[in-house]
Amino acid sequence: MTVRVRIAPSPTGNLHIGTARTAVFNWLFARHHGGKFILRIEDTDLERSRPEYTENILEGLRWLGLNWDEGPFFQSQRLELYKQAVEKLLAQGLAYRCYTTSEELEALREAQKAKGEAPRYDNRHRNLTPEQEAAFKAEGRSFVIRFKIEDDREIVWDDLVRGKMSWRGSDLGGDMVIARASEDGVGQPLYNFVVVVDDIDMQITHVIRGEDHIANTAKQILLYEAMGAKIPQFAHSPLILNMEGRKLSKRDGVTSISDFKQLGFTSEGLVNYMTLLGWSAPDSTQEIFTLEAAAKEFSFERVNKAGAKFDWAKLDWLNSQYIHNMPVSQL
Ligand code: GLU
Repeated sequence: MTVRVRIAPSPTGNLHIGTARTAVFNWLFARHHGGKFILRIEDTDLERSRPEYTENILEGLRWLGLNWDEGPFFQSQRLELYKQAVEKLLAQGLAYRCYTTSEELEALREAQKAKGEAPRYDNRHRNLTPEQEAAFKAEGRSFVIRFKIEDDREIVWDDLVRGKMSWRGSDLGGDMVIARASEDGVGQPLYNFVVVVDDIDMQITHVIRGEDHIANTAKQILLYEAMGAKIPQFAHSPLILNMEGRKLSKRDGVTSISDFKQLGFTSEGLVNYMTLLGWSAPDSTQEIFTLEAAAKEFSFERVNKAGAKFDWAKLDWLNSQYIHNMPVSQL
């Protein structure tokens, strides 16, 4: 089996350090196994996606030396494929049109809140009769496509970082929206759905991404099953935390690769630092790595479960190693 992994950034901002670190782990894993590293731009969110962010992402990955083997593929150019996949699920009775209005959803949420329950869709339009559907249409209601999730389903996977993971269907918020409507039927497809269609189509063998996607993985496994596809292996890497132990966010100031570049960090120093954000080499005293050297040693056995604290002092130190080692002519 050829290992095939991907990085799938959304062009809704500049290349973020978290995405870049995920790209590093994917790249190292692919190179370690002589596999393929694929780049996919997830630009289905038309309102928030911008071409200048795509440019910034491609530039950042190139600057870091994270060369890709296939792509970039753009989800905005693959809408026909998603539409066909939605239609198939509808025809199989695994998905349905839901006409619940936003006011009705809001009322449902309020009622659940009053009872101290977690918000979830109550699957009320799962079994509409053709007459009921016609009546909703006649009212001029629009619809979304929901994929059926059975409450009593148990979803388990063996995560390459976190070990055995187990979720119940009832934890996933009810039948999930996979596409919005448009004039001519199936409209904009949503994240969890397009990711699975693409990962199947691109024959991804290992999905390596941040642990903020764990609940998505549970949902996505159900979609793989529904589409009759082989389920890839999953590895959820720890989040990058600030020094106070909270998820690194925009408030922390410098978070995008182009910011680091502007501050004068070397790409080698930064990529070396990212390699060690959550991973350590078998010889844990070794800290200076090129990407190629790290790829030789890389495995998920040595990726931590705990969040990785961003440490400026260490980044400075690693960076200085590359500056000092640079031939004088390049300084
Ligand atoms: N577009 C998603 C993100 O940027 C990709 C997540 C994934 O790897 O599936 O978070």
